Amino acid sequence: MRGSKRMLVMKFGGTSVTNPLSVAAIAKQVRSNLEQKPIIVVSALSGVTDLLVKLSNASNKGEIQDILAEIRLKHQQWIDNIFSQNSPCNQNASAQIDFYLEELEDIMQAHDFSSSLARHDSIVAFGEKMSSYLISRYLVNNKIQAERLLATKCIITNNNFGGADFLSDETILHSKKNILPLVENEIVPVITGFIGATVNGETTILGRGGSDYSAAIIGYAIGAKEIQIWTDVDGVFSADPRKVTNARLINQLSYQEAAELAMFGAKVLHPRTIQPAVKADIPVRVLNTFNLDNHGTLINHDADNTHHVKAVTWRKDVPLINISSPDMFLSKGFLQRVFAILSENNISVNMLSASEVSVSVTLDNVGNLEDALKQLNEFAVAEYRSGLGSISLVGEKIMDTPLLMQNVFNLLEDQGLKAEMLSYSASNINLSMVIASESIEKIVPKLHDQFIIS
Ligand code: ASP
Ligand code: MG
Repeated sequence: MRGSKRMLVMKFGGTSVTNPLSVAAIAKQVRSNLEQKPIIVVSALSGVTDLLVKLSNASNKGEIQDILAEIRLKHQQWIDNIFSQNSPCNQNASAQIDFYLEELEDIMQAHDFSSSLARHDSIVAFGEKMSSYLISRYLVNNKIQAERLLATKCIITNNNFGGADFLSDETILHSKKNILPLVENEIVPVITGFIGATVNGETTILGRGGSDYSAAIIGYAIGAKEIQIWTDVDGVFSADPRKVTNARLINQLSYQEAAELAMFGAKVLHPRTIQPAVKADIPVRVLNTFNLDNHGTLINHDADNTHHVKAVTWRKDVPLINISSPDMFLSKGFLQRVFAILSENNISVNMLSASEVSVSVTLDNVGNLEDALKQLNEFAVAEYRSGLGSISLVGEKIMDTPLLMQNVFNLLEDQGLKAEMLSYSASNINLSMVIASESIEKIVPKLHDQFIIS
């Protein structure tokens, strides 16, 4: 398409679409970027998806009515804050929300879903249906030509309800077909985040927090110039600023670093967001709707090699299993057996370190831990350890940091701490250590001072 190079996907998260000040900022940002052909992706109003999840699990009539009333109230408050009382805009919006809530009630009774998970996704999708409608009306009211578009017409997914993934060819086809004509006619599409549809047209969700991912998928599918994730913080920080007071805003990250940070617990971006952006090499920028002057964090293919350690992230609760066996030495298939048992019991492994007679793994989730331990103990000695957490230093070419290991060990030793496990990935982007949970918040600021501030 002519001019497609200019398209800009702008995703606005829950707090951004809810707060009247940031809603005004949305209109301001869209207006000042009209030249760049903006395409808007929105989350549900704050707290609405949680209520919908509750609704989908509710069976008692009274409870259902209470939840529906709460959802109505949240949207009516928004409408009264944004559109003047008794204006046609206010009344139309209320009527439309009522209409959606009736539809939602019908869906609660419906029996034509392929599974209960499918039903759940259709219910939970209503948050974005309602918010996208409201934001598109707001833009129109502010003299910006805008039209709401359901992502069920653009993002085509597999049948993995609850956390579906997009099908590339179908999504490119449908996104182009439905988005580009609007853009060509200078209409700003306002698209529902978080949701898609199967090839058969059943609504799916992309997993909690999935609107970031929606924005990246759409950017990828139409070949946008940039994907902007507008949120309520300034960007990605070198550590969680609530815990590390001197944490710094990171100006620029490589795709790999951003993916690693999202995986290892920095909550700014949904972990899958980076994949489609990398595939199409589209820069992602994280920006703050509450601080428009800020330049945010730019994520693209460049690595900033002036400083290898970009961030310190941690998890306070990391389960670990130590498995040892004197027979392991030179025995074929030992690790294969271990992993088969873990996977049969729905346990996924995060970090691993192995010697000739023992292997330690940290777990992403505990699955059927008891059964797994029983099976492992039939041919080895498997012991579960709790009370541990992990800290990761993240950055490309991290091992080029002078004296990295020595300084990490010195710091731990000064604090009288011992790493239960150390893991350093071959991709040279992550150094992780497992230590007692209770010591994590003591040591994180020290590691941060050492490798990022100084
Ligand atoms: N509204 C969805 C959620 O709360 C998706 C999102 O906000 O990204 O998980
Ligand atoms: Mg989010």
